[in-house]
Amino acid sequence: MNIVVQKYGGTSVGSVERIKNVAKRIIEKKKSGHQIVVVVSAMGKTTDDLVKLAYDISKAPPKRELDRLLSTGEQISISLLSMALQAMGHDAISFTGPQVGIRTSGRHTKSRIEGIDTTKILDALNEDKIVIVAGFQGVNENDDVTTLGRGGSDTSAVALACVLDAPCEIYTDVEGIYGVDPRLYPQAKKLDTVNYEEMLEMASLGAGVMHPRAIELGSKYNTKILVASSMLDLPGTIIKKGEHNMEGQSITGLAIDNDETMITIRNIPFDLNITSHFFSQLANKSINIDMISQSAPIDGFINISFTAPTSDLEDAKIILSAFEEKHPGIRILINENVSKLSVVGVGMRSQSGVAAKFFQLLSDNDIQMLMITTSEIRISCIIKSKDRELAVTETAKAFDL
Ligand code: ASP
Ligand code: MG
Repeated sequence: MNIVVQKYGGTSVGSVERIKNVAKRIIEKKKSGHQIVVVVSAMGKTTDDLVKLAYDISKAPPKRELDRLLSTGEQISISLLSMALQAMGHDAISFTGPQVGIRTSGRHTKSRIEGIDTTKILDALNEDKIVIVAGFQGVNENDDVTTLGRGGSDTSAVALACVLDAPCEIYTDVEGIYGVDPRLYPQAKKLDTVNYEEMLEMASLGAGVMHPRAIELGSKYNTKILVASSMLDLPGTIIKKGEHNMEGQSITGLAIDNDETMITIRNIPFDLNITSHFFSQLANKSINIDMISQSAPIDGFINISFTAPTSDLEDAKIILSAFEEKHPGIRILINENVSKLSVVGVGMRSQSGVAAKFFQLLSDNDIQMLMITTSEIRISCIIKSKDRELAVTETAKAFDL
């Protein structure tokens, strides 16, 4: 069998005209000798509208009912797409997530896929039908409809590709994956390929093109993922396994996260209990800590810096003042309006001097680095938000992104 899973996002099925256009593309693919499973998102801003409705009715809509509601968006687009295909003379059948046995676990609105029963899909494919599956949804152990978190249709599509042992094609309103967001750097180059690790770093750093969990799944099952335009016939970007060629670029992409706050606490007594207690308190308030760095102990004291979303600052302040009351010797410094600039690339593993080059170029442009963290394939630094544009442009130029 020659199965391919295609996914079309909300913009791509945002109107009757666009749904017809998607149907034409699916038919073309079928004619080239493929059996096709299509996953679609809700039309345009449907999901946002449904969320708004729920919150207009209730301040805290029950999550079970919210899932029931949100899952309807995708049910509109699957049935319309199936009608469009049938009107064009092709046999098609639409299924909801629960209908094709997309079993999930975990909390409502944030469920995770446990497994998929492929029987129904394979049967329909064998009857020469185009199979259309609602993205973003599944069913839990109580037989309740669940959703996978916003943007979750990507994950539905990749999960289906994994269990069907098929490649996955994600069609969207961008032409592929760029090393830098073209809205920040118009000269940005589209990547022909990018590997799972890099894509995962970039996706979770907020590149925003794809649901990070979809990439995690693709990597686990070694499923090739193509990201390409749903309007134009262009090659797109392939996400797959593999190292960069040794002579290639050291850096594949750059990402910037705005709206972070950096908090530094000086003169903390060097005691593991104190540090762990402090971070547990932040966790109890669901404050999402991003970077953390701790200085080596000097004379029994350490300094700790960490970053968190600015939206969590008020909650953090409450914990900070309680901490200060308990340990009056400490000093707290808060830096609002900072951004995290990250460069990502597996090339870093085999090439030396990447960090040096990155730091040098920031310093040449008088951009201060307030905090630095690294992983094997990423260097992140906190800079002042006012330096953001300059930092992005200069870094993109220097690394030819
Ligand atoms: N319709 C859902 C959302 O807007 C899922 C998706 O588009 O991937 O989040
Ligand atoms: Mg999306």
